[in-house]
Amino acid sequence: MDINFFLFFRKKYNLMLSSINFIIDSYDEIKDYQLRNNIEGDSVIFTKDQTIKRNCIMEKIQILNLIDICNSHIKNICNHEFIDDNIDIDLDNSQAITYCRICELTEDEIFK
Ligand SMILES: [Zn+2]
Repeated sequence: MDINFFLFFRKKYNLMLSSINFIIDSYDEIKDYQLRNNIEGDSVIFTKDQTIKRNCIMEKIQILNLIDICNSHIKNICNHEFIDDNIDIDLDNSQAITYCRICELTEDEIFK
């Protein structure tokens, strides 16, 4: 299959992953809010039933697996064109990286 197929799917799975992480974080924030304010479980709609959060965590595992599968295909079929760059770690430090311009995987990800 064409590399664009895998790049498109990986992009969509990463967007889905961001949305799922947002939902999981929101559940945790609701739980923290409840604990900080000493709100009884019965009065808050999400505290008793964590089914949606559990399902999101299961879905997250599947999406991470699908991203891995996409990356393993991309690694093999991309005609990698490497470029050197620096990424900021914090305000004072940056780190040199080499990644592919086409598939955006780093050398470490491709050759591990
Ligand atoms: Zn590449």
